[in-house]
Amino acid sequence: MKIKKRFTSAIAAVFLVSLGSVSINAISAFSPLPQTAQAQTTYCKNRSFTAKALFKVNVRADRSTSSPIVAVLNPGTYQFSTWEEGQSIPDSWTGQPDNKWYKLADGRGWVASAVIAGYPPQGCPINVSVYQDPLKGKGTITQRPGGATSHTGRAQYAIDFGTPIGTPVYAMRAGTVVKLEDRFADTGGGEANKDKANFIAIEHVESNGSRVRSGYVHLQRGFISKTGIKIGQQVQAGQLIGYSGNSGWSTNPHLHVEVHIPNANGTFGQTIPFSIQGRY
Ligand SMILES: [Zn+2]
Repeated sequence: MKIKKRFTSAIAAVFLVSLGSVSINAISAFSPLPQTAQAQTTYCKNRSFTAKALFKVNVRADRSTSSPIVAVLNPGTYQFSTWEEGQSIPDSWTGQPDNKWYKLADGRGWVASAVIAGYPPQGCPINVSVYQDPLKGKGTITQRPGGATSHTGRAQYAIDFGTPIGTPVYAMRAGTVVKLEDRFADTGGGEANKDKANFIAIEHVESNGSRVRSGYVHLQRGFISKTGIKIGQQVQAGQLIGYSGNSGWSTNPHLHVEVHIPNANGTFGQTIPFSIQGRY
């Protein structure tokens, strides 16, 4: 399906330029291309993804062409945070009805899937818990689960956000602070510095009684005194717990977050898949 969009993009662009229009309503004048029936596809929500504007497209305040235009995207690649159902519009390339609207990650508004090339991720993990954003919109994802740099083995399902030292870090879920470390300098470094990361671990009780922990790693030295956080403290989701840094195995200032099942000795155990609302 993606190939078909690239295939006709030049025609679409010429058509719009000749009209001098950026209205997505104009695009429905295209005659649909023949295509085979598509299988029903599940597109994941609350997962970040990119899509390409191949010509100028409107950004709407809400998921309808009757909603005000708040911006216009020039051709290029854009980051989206999720999708939601909205007004159904004929797809610019196939003519098939498409009710998906993509939410711009920068919060400016919504773009109809029907006029932009690219799709949200598919194959959503089942029973994955959705956690709150530990940076409340700051930073950008620099390494995903399975990332070759360091998200393999125990850390398979971790997520990294590149963000300047000192960015506030918030609890992703309510729980109890069980581990704290903040002795190490924010010098960064390679794998040799693996055991020199400052971090917080917060324990959460699942509905079946099992315990998992969220971990926030590479924090800024001194975050404990700055926040007053203590072992045994109960924290709420969204509560300030620390500041991002560059301690430990870290080549650039970033926040590493993960959800893991603690080992028998209480140390960082195997990570499990999780989702971060609006980010991943
Ligand atoms: Zn990481």
